[in-house]
Amino acid sequence: MNHRICEKCEGDMVKCYVDQGMRGILVKNADGDKLFSNKKNTRINPFVCGDCGWVEWYADEPGKIR
Ligand SMILES: [Zn+2]
Repeated sequence: MNHRICEKCEGDMVKCYVDQGMRGILVKNADGDKLFSNKKNTRINPFVCGDCGWVEWYADEPGKIR
């Protein structure tokens, strides 16, 4: 999904990425911390409203964070 509807103004939101984030910032659930790895992780990316500028973050793989 590359487009969403803005909850503030019902404008068109476009999926973007943070320039320094390698197409998604990696976030981890601390419950998954192990000695060498943490598989409870996902990348997150922002959707930006082209009308009002509202930003929402969504996880690429939300199921992996549980
Ligand atoms: Zn908007």
